[in-house]
Amino acid sequence: MNGLILQGFEWYLPDDGNHFNHLKEKLEELKGLGITAIWLPPVFKATGTNDVGYGIYDLFDLGEFDQKGNVRTKYGTKEELLSLIDKAHEVGISVYADVVLNHKAGADEKEKFRAVEVSREDRTKVIGEEKDIEGWTKFTFPGRDGKYSEFEWNHQHFSGVDYDDIEKKGGIFKLTGEGKGWSWAVAGEHGNFDYLMFSDIDHNHPDVRQEIFYWADWFINETNVDGFRYDASKHIDAGFMDDLENHIRANIKEDFYSMGEYWNGDNQTLIDYMSETSGNIDLFDVPLHYSFYSASHSGSEYDMRTIFDNSILKTNPTIAVTFVDNHDTQLGQSLESWVKPWFKEHAYSIILLRDEGYPTIFWGDLYGIGDGTLYGGMYDKLTKLMELRRDYAYGDQDDYLLDANTVGFVRKGDDDHPGSMAVVMTNGDMATLSMNVGEDQKGKIFIDALGNNDSKIQIKDDGYGDFHVSPGSVSVWVEKI
Ligand code: CA
Repeated sequence: MNGLILQGFEWYLPDDGNHFNHLKEKLEELKGLGITAIWLPPVFKATGTNDVGYGIYDLFDLGEFDQKGNVRTKYGTKEELLSLIDKAHEVGISVYADVVLNHKAGADEKEKFRAVEVSREDRTKVIGEEKDIEGWTKFTFPGRDGKYSEFEWNHQHFSGVDYDDIEKKGGIFKLTGEGKGWSWAVAGEHGNFDYLMFSDIDHNHPDVRQEIFYWADWFINETNVDGFRYDASKHIDAGFMDDLENHIRANIKEDFYSMGEYWNGDNQTLIDYMSETSGNIDLFDVPLHYSFYSASHSGSEYDMRTIFDNSILKTNPTIAVTFVDNHDTQLGQSLESWVKPWFKEHAYSIILLRDEGYPTIFWGDLYGIGDGTLYGGMYDKLTKLMELRRDYAYGDQDDYLLDANTVGFVRKGDDDHPGSMAVVMTNGDMATLSMNVGEDQKGKIFIDALGNNDSKIQIKDDGYGDFHVSPGSVSVWVEKI
């Protein structure tokens, strides 16, 4: 089966509590277009309903308790969430939850404890005396009142905070004392990238480990989700992640699916992380995203033959979760690296029509961003590509990577999907690429299913066709029916 994930949100969705209902209404249509899984935005109570969800407050409040100013989250109530998940399962779509385990935000009370300030640029560099600070680290969840879990968080469970309330000063403050300090099984940027934001959870504290394992049992049973998308993986102790994954597989669901956001463009760093987590966590193909980004900004200067270089798709296709853009790379966001619209059809043709990888479609590309005035998305083109994936992306794959500007590949189909498909794309002038779609296709007339080129191409006796592509464009040639 050609699995296909929809990232079911973008950064600027309206704060109207209606998104879960909205998604639910779209499920049948999405299933028809070949979507097999939806990655939901974080479903947990965050700092407020205007929070996308990454400023997470309570892992046990899925829009059920009056906390942080409302019962619902940005996207709806727990009841609406559970109803969405049930309906998704009914139509045959899996659901992946976005879990935010690196940090907590919006504490209920502040506490006094010992800490040192460290440099933002180099978190191994102490830039102040060890002293008492007041940090927002006490989480008592008064609105939930102990339901599901009586665990309360305090400063012992964190390794760093972003604010000292005594001096009313922002910064990165590392907690000191016995057993305290950054984890070293994290990314190496900034000297040590354990700390990302808010109150950074200490995953080596035994009570924290026990509570998060307990939470995973509760959450998966309560919601029946089929997988996790781990937010900010590279900032969380890799040994903890490995233990958590093993715990889930051994105690909850053997075939649970996990994918990790490990944001790094270097292939080897990602492969190392894969080993540290026993190959249980699929990884977003960040290097491939950056290739798309570069290609989209370089025009005809980019050598299209190198587009797979350094990608997870090429070196470790079975764990590659491919994507073009997401809620962080979109304009104005923390990892902004937006693939220019002229190249998005190229990029989606690659991730949707090739054999390797588990592709993700970004909500913003399908339905637009915000009110659509800045970017309206590419619904018509993208749904066409989704249909092509559903109907033609099967069987053997032959690459034609001979020219720096114009490249192509052919899918030969299989017994259940006998049609051949020839994909040709260029970042230069109009071009023609001769490709073999199989001798069994001889005499047939092929047309461009994307409608970017009007030609009709007859397949020759030897199975070859001369497939055209318009300037800076993509064409996907299939038999005219
Ligand atoms: Ca961390």
